Amino acid sequence: MDLKLKNRRALVLASSDGLGKAVAAELIAEGANVIISSRNIEKLEITATEIGVHSFIKCDLSDASSIEPLIVEAAEALGGLDILVTNAGGPPAGTFADLTDQQWYDAFQTLFMSVTQSIRAARPIMAEQQWGRIVMITSVAGKESVHNLTLSNSLRAGLHGLMNTLSKELGAEGITVNAVLPTYTETERLKQLKVDRAALTKQIPAGRLGQPEELAKLVTYLCSDMAGFISGQAVGFDGGSMQSV
Ligand code: NAD
Repeated sequence: MDLKLKNRRALVLASSDGLGKAVAAELIAEGANVIISSRNIEKLEITATEIGVHSFIKCDLSDASSIEPLIVEAAEALGGLDILVTNAGGPPAGTFADLTDQQWYDAFQTLFMSVTQSIRAARPIMAEQQWGRIVMITSVAGKESVHNLTLSNSLRAGLHGLMNTLSKELGAEGITVNAVLPTYTETERLKQLKVDRAALTKQIPAGRLGQPEELAKLVTYLCSDMAGFISGQAVGFDGGSMQSV
């Protein structure tokens, strides 16, 4: 299937590693011009060479003032912006009792406001061309809460509300807005969370963890011309583990 992504202009947030990197690589494989971004310049340089990006821009999503400039710089470099994939480093684990106000505020900026701020900046550019694709990488935690991931459970559910609202508000501007909800997928994040892989695998009907490349293909489809009638959807990437309806 020709996804008609050749020369589409894309920015993927938090993409020097993990899921964001896999998405950027898949968009490039489909012919898009892609800018990657993360807070880590060394990793950006390595990834940029490895996957053949258009360019890269350092941006720390915990810094509210840096997000609009990121979108503006990316759109200038690409000559416009067709695709925005939002993503962020995962928040710290912890139960409700463990978390301080500061951790809530920090996670709110990095996980939630970075999405709001980046979409606010990208929307007029997409609206003017009457074509845009926004895909949020969130988590199954936003739909079915996961023990010890209080910040993720709470803020991702909010993102799904935002995604649904935006799909209604931006549809007439030719912009689709969707979210993909990964369950445990093989990236560095799993090492950070120090999870028991064997136990997790048992919870997933498919009997294995997800692969970043598989998630990337789903995101890439949602970014394509073919997916123009799909908007406001929270699509599970979960090997059958979530209740779907
Ligand atoms: P990862 O740790 O492999 O990669 C995270 C990327 O985000 C890296 O490029 C890192 O440099 C970048 N990053 C981290 N903090 C940043 C910041 N403040 N500003 C800009 N860039 C920053 O993680 P991943 O597995 O790819 O996960 C991506 C997102 O998906 C996370 O929010 C994670 O919680 C979520 N998620 C992951 C899984 C999984 O199993 N891997 C499952 C569900 C949800």
